[in-house]
Amino acid sequence: MSNGKRAATVLFMPLRQLFDLVLPPRCPSCRVIVDGDDRFCSACYAALQFISAPLCACCGIPLVHDGGPDTLCGGCLAEPPNYATARAAFVYAGPARSVVLSFKHGDRQHLARLMAPHLLRASVGGITADSLVVPVPLHRWRLWERGFNQAALMATQLARLSGAKTCLDAMQRVKPSRKGPMDRAARRKNVAGAFRVRDKSVIAGRHILLIDDVMTSGATVAACARALKRAGATRVDVLTWARAVRVGDDVSGRNAGRSATHDSREADEKDSYGQG
Ligand SMILES: [Zn+2]
Ligand SMILES: [Zn+2]
Repeated sequence: MSNGKRAATVLFMPLRQLFDLVLPPRCPSCRVIVDGDDRFCSACYAALQFISAPLCACCGIPLVHDGGPDTLCGGCLAEPPNYATARAAFVYAGPARSVVLSFKHGDRQHLARLMAPHLLRASVGGITADSLVVPVPLHRWRLWERGFNQAALMATQLARLSGAKTCLDAMQRVKPSRKGPMDRAARRKNVAGAFRVRDKSVIAGRHILLIDDVMTSGATVAACARALKRAGATRVDVLTWARAVRVGDDVSGRNAGRSATHDSREADEKDSYGQG
């Protein structure tokens, strides 16, 4: 193609194509060029560890044996959580983990668009127009430090996709989180009394979809669910992009077995950023 022809082609290119030429869409995990926005490259897609049945009917932890759709894990049998269900799209490892890290710490906020369809896919029974999508809040110091709440961006995109309503400031984190690795008891103590509902009239009588990026021990979402139920929510379901799976947990579905290499070290890394 002659230079003149090339210049003419560029001149009459639709703006979108021109934009892709200058800033081509890249895989959110490994940054290779891909053929569309909000898509993983084929290698990263193949490395994603989808979470699928058999799961605990309540907390969604993958189970070793399929005991039927109503089976509960030992933890939920011993102490039923305040939420009805918790589901995550992926194991917190590999590309699913890279996405979270660049989303939160690389200021790549557009990644919420990539996450929303996966949240919808992982949801139990879908999302209705009557559901209220509520993000896990950040303490104001953390919000000031980061400049945005990643869960609120995810909630906005999920509401847009599903047609549900969202209330981004329904909850407040009134106690800042402690940084650093914590065991289960410390995580629970860390979030005890940390959350409150801003306006009970917004929550009372509603089905709440609580959104967060990663579920580690489940202490954070359980504490939020407790506050929501106290404020009169009829039901709370939790949706997260990824979930930490410890050594000894079993992951069924694609790439089973590899998850165990990504254990509490990552959970601690996640918690060091102040969540659980
Ligand atoms: Zn990739
Ligand atoms: Zn469970």
